[in-house]
Amino acid sequence: MECLFCKIINKEVPSEIIYENGKFIVFRDINPKAPIHYLICPKKHIISVNHVGEEDRELIGELFLVAKKIARDFGISEKGYKLVFNVGKGGGQLIPHLHLHLLGGWRSKKERDLPHMP
Ligand code: 5GP
Ligand code: ZN
Repeated sequence: MECLFCKIINKEVPSEIIYENGKFIVFRDINPKAPIHYLICPKKHIISVNHVGEEDRELIGELFLVAKKIARDFGISEKGYKLVFNVGKGGGQLIPHLHLHLLGGWRSKKERDLPHMP
């Protein structure tokens, strides 16, 4: 199953990895839509939210704990941030490997409200 994000997970494609554990990898989006824009990616190849199974309950719970930790580590917990899943082509999903966009770090409401959604 060699999709682009599997290649990033396997280090066959370089990326700016900011966090990694046994089950997840977090790396900078190559085309950031916010001052902080990271992709939180389970190492398991799940295509999209539509493809999450009962067996993934624990993994998806952990995904949110990773998101919370990254937000805290990068100092945006208090100020706030956005978490986005694009689902399927119609939802704007380009890479068919489940990933949660974490966006934040805006200096003003105006900057945040510029068109930026991933
Ligand atoms: P999607 O549209 O599938 O929800 O989001 C895919 C994201 O992956 C996009 O925001 C895009 O900029 C990012 N992306 C695409 N190719 C690469 C890559 O090779 N490296 C990194 N770091 N990000 C990528
Ligand atoms: Zn994959």
